Amino acid sequence: MKIPLLQQAYSPEDFRKRGHLLIDELADHLDDKLKAKTSKAIHWNEPEFELQFWKDFLETGREETLFSEITKRTTYVHHPHYIGHQVSPTAPITALTGAISSLLNNGMAVYEMGMASSAIERVVTDMLCKQIGYDTNSRGFLTSGGTLANLTALLGARKAVLDHDVWTEGHSKPLGIMVSSEAHYCVERAAKIMGLGEQGIIKIPVTNGYAMDVSQLKARFDEAASKGVEIFAIIGSAPSTATGVYDDLKGIGQFAKAHNLWFHVDGAHGGAAIFSQKYSHTVAGMDQADSVVIDGHKMMMMPTITTALLMKNGTNASATFSQKADYLLTQEDHEDWYNSGKRTFECTKNMMSIHWYTLLKVYGVEIFDEFVTHLYDMGYLFGEIIANHPDFELAVTPVSNIVCFRYKNDALDLASLNKLNAALRRALLEEGEYYIVQTKLQGIHYLRVTVMNPFTTEVHFQRLLDKVIEWVLGYPTVQA
Ligand SMILES: *Cc1c(COP(=O)(O)O)cnc(C)c1O
Repeated sequence: MKIPLLQQAYSPEDFRKRGHLLIDELADHLDDKLKAKTSKAIHWNEPEFELQFWKDFLETGREETLFSEITKRTTYVHHPHYIGHQVSPTAPITALTGAISSLLNNGMAVYEMGMASSAIERVVTDMLCKQIGYDTNSRGFLTSGGTLANLTALLGARKAVLDHDVWTEGHSKPLGIMVSSEAHYCVERAAKIMGLGEQGIIKIPVTNGYAMDVSQLKARFDEAASKGVEIFAIIGSAPSTATGVYDDLKGIGQFAKAHNLWFHVDGAHGGAAIFSQKYSHTVAGMDQADSVVIDGHKMMMMPTITTALLMKNGTNASATFSQKADYLLTQEDHEDWYNSGKRTFECTKNMMSIHWYTLLKVYGVEIFDEFVTHLYDMGYLFGEIIANHPDFELAVTPVSNIVCFRYKNDALDLASLNKLNAALRRALLEEGEYYIVQTKLQGIHYLRVTVMNPFTTEVHFQRLLDKVIEWVLGYPTVQA
């Protein structure tokens, strides 16, 4: 059989040519967006139109424009006006490590299929464990996202805490976890996947400041216990996604210890504060956690999707998916840290460790301090600007780079203000100069900003607020 298409697809020369062109294109994109040479952070398109475009493109589009069309039709995370979801403007060098991973395709489930990346993963996760304050019994691994990492942590918790082996025998007794009502929805999803049901998700209300109200833990625990629910884990958010507020990790840790619960910290967003000299106080108490999740693709400048799950006792990391109930790691047993698939939900995964390692090698660990500290500083700054502005109010004083605020107007009732703020956010999206998001807290509709780009400045914030005021003045209920 002749294989002309395959010859072409695997041509090193074709790859070289396209690669050089693409790097030039992406470097131009980066230059353009970082410096805000084009005004928009997103060219909004309705889903149906976008779908039609790509259907048509497959038939009639010019192949030479494929990569540039894809680039153009994205949300520009490197634009300083991108202050929406908690996605990193990737450090450009990690696009190169991404390319390495894609081309070499060492799937890492077993050591033989990823020697370098498996060993590198150990280096990176050991470094993270140390930074958390764990000792050398700790172990970690990388997995595909905070959602999967939280699920994996809770599976590990169930295995470690309960005296019966749910993994082999299933469970007949109601089980439960405790978590703040403001936690990321993926925690609830994990609990439901694990079959805990509604009654197994003990939601702890938040304080006025949107942190878990630890004063209610005892009563809620007793209430669940009286209904026969065996609670095995408690989760602290560091911080919670919607508001950026950190739970009291020390308080939760003490409660966990006193009640023999697994203490898990969901630091998908802000766990990276362990690197910030100025803001590491936000994660005080994290070293007491049995497990910690930190996303690389949020506050650590890496591409989606790469997440570290760190466990204080490495034995638990190995036991989660182990078939043997009595699996115990001893000095004699071979630890087998290098066969990543034994500890991760995934079988095959990408060579994600090389992003982390490359940033460490090329820029040093200080880059994470700079990134987190600067962005949190900018969150504080934006919070101050809002607090001092007569037409806006904060949901809560920011303690990270996440800021929830809204347009306020004493002449309007809550329903009208909610409607106005929702319409305002929609108008911003469609117009596209800024990309911000929104959230609802206790029935109030807020605009939500996450400062993710180190090159977003006070000038950009001011311009956004001026734009908003200009728009509001044209809004019917305000005009009247
Ligand atoms: C983003 C986030 C998650 C989900 O992480 P993914 O990597 O998007 O799966 C979980 N918890 C918190 C607190 C988050 O901010």
